[in-house]
Amino acid sequence: MPSAPIDRAIRRRGLMLVLSSPSGAGKSTISRNLLESDTSFELSISVTTRARRGSEIDGRHYHFRTLREFESMRDNDELLEWAEVHGNFYATPRAPVERALSEGRDMLFDIDWQGAEQMRDKMRADIVSIFILPPTMRELKGRLRRRAEDTEAVIGARLANARAEIEHWRDYDYVVVNDDLDAAFAQVEAVIVAERLRRDRRPGLFDFVQGLLGEKLD
Ligand code: ADP
Ligand code: 5GP
Repeated sequence: MPSAPIDRAIRRRGLMLVLSSPSGAGKSTISRNLLESDTSFELSISVTTRARRGSEIDGRHYHFRTLREFESMRDNDELLEWAEVHGNFYATPRAPVERALSEGRDMLFDIDWQGAEQMRDKMRADIVSIFILPPTMRELKGRLRRRAEDTEAVIGARLANARAEIEHWRDYDYVVVNDDLDAAFAQVEAVIVAERLRRDRRPGLFDFVQGLLGEKLD
């Protein structure tokens, strides 16, 4: 994302960007595009007890853990939020988020509405949330099938859960309908550009404006 160098030099707080959607609406695709095009974002890698899909790599897409390992992390307060989704546990490890926040870096979270709710409760000022909707339920089903990563039974359960997930669209700051991928991605980028310009996210503006006002003109 191009930005004027002088503008970039103004110190700002990190953005905690939460993307949620019913499974299959395209949030992983949008997340991937964002991580490729905007290198200031770091992906929060969740812990999960669900089985690894063929295309997934442990430590990159998820930290795949046993139920016992998950429970031990939860009981040791190593998780910022956790939820049961589609019969498995998912959670956000606390340490990388605290590091990113203290260093003013941006983080991207691909988490469900339960996780988004817990994150808002814990760090409201830092969270920007976007809900991704599919254009139609028929297309959602088609995308889950075309992804070809899950069995028909799993796809059926995800479709049934999709309705409950969509009910939470009102809790989000922004809603993007992912019909055409490029258009949806451009909308996500527009949200990020605007949110980075928010005054309360840019503590460096105080010094910048003081510098402006103190500038001697000949
Ligand atoms: P989610 O992370 O929300 O479960 P994915 O990003 O895995 O969803 O997308 C589900 C499937 O739909 C993938 O095969 C992806 O390539 C495809 N997809 C994503 N966005 C679009 C779109 N706008 N049009 C058509 N197919 C899409
Ligand atoms: P999937 O199994 O398709 O990768 O993810 C299923 C759902 O779990 C998605 O809605 C995804 O956003 C959500 N999810 C993934 N990681 C986390 C997490 O760390 N916390 C929460 N609450 N949900 C997560």
